[in-house]
Amino acid sequence: MAELSIPQTQIAAIVPEQGGPVEFDDNYPVSLPGEDEVLVRVLYTGVCQSDLNTKAGTATGADGLPITNIKLPHVGGHEGVGRVVALGPNLTPNETLQLGTLVGIRFASRDIDPKVVGPTLCAGVTAYKAVRNAGLKKGDWLTVIGAGGGLGHFAVQYGLALGAQVLGVDAGAEKQQFVESLGAKFLDFTKCRDLADEVRRSTAGGTHAVVVTSGHPRAFQKLGDMIRIGGSLCIAGIPPGDVHLDVIKGLKIQGNLVGSLEETLEAVEMVRVGKVKVHVKVRPFRDLPDVYGMLEKGDIAGRIVLQL
Ligand SMILES: [Zn+2]
Repeated sequence: MAELSIPQTQIAAIVPEQGGPVEFDDNYPVSLPGEDEVLVRVLYTGVCQSDLNTKAGTATGADGLPITNIKLPHVGGHEGVGRVVALGPNLTPNETLQLGTLVGIRFASRDIDPKVVGPTLCAGVTAYKAVRNAGLKKGDWLTVIGAGGGLGHFAVQYGLALGAQVLGVDAGAEKQQFVESLGAKFLDFTKCRDLADEVRRSTAGGTHAVVVTSGHPRAFQKLGDMIRIGGSLCIAGIPPGDVHLDVIKGLKIQGNLVGSLEETLEAVEMVRVGKVKVHVKVRPFRDLPDVYGMLEKGDIAGRIVLQL
């Protein structure tokens, strides 16, 4: 298999300095795997908001402060999926891991489309965990802010798969058409005079849970007003700074950071059996700067995956 051969060099998209543009290096060396490592030839990688934040210098750590200790030049990307081309010196091939096995972070399989795996392992798992944390009962209302985006379209579908009624909030005709095609109701926040009011009206008096999947400051306004007494607020997007809640009425408030191995396997399984459909557009690797531009504007319905 030609795709299992190991080249001396590879193409890398590198960030020489934070805040600057991405540059391509066609002669980035390929290193061999060490103990407990495998070398993977990447086929596809999702483009994630957190890659953009790291490049731009706008990523924040768990303490809410900007992450500045980034090793430069930085090579982005954490949604890679590909085939194993070499095993570390202490590893022996077995049923689940051998040359040619399709792998992503914490995951190995044969019977799933590699294009959709990367986004599922990051955005999918994050959204799945947020929806699960909401503790919804069948028929409860789940409102997803940023419903047409990468994280958002996962949250909408996991919500529906778990038996909730879903209201998606986003902007524009393309996102509306997309979110409605997933089986959710839709609200265009740019057309609402008072979004919290409209959400209460659309969900018979208040939503049981809100999952925020956007990092835009507007996505964090009046969230408490939308939710019923005792409901849940789950924040899966990266907030732009302090989050102000105007009403605390027995709400359960949860932050979110990806998920456990068990949750990862559950999230992937729902994609594998077709309960959740990952909306990906494939673009060539060298389109990355353009894709970052689209992400910055919030123009992407679903997720863009780069083919390497
Ligand atoms: Zn990601």
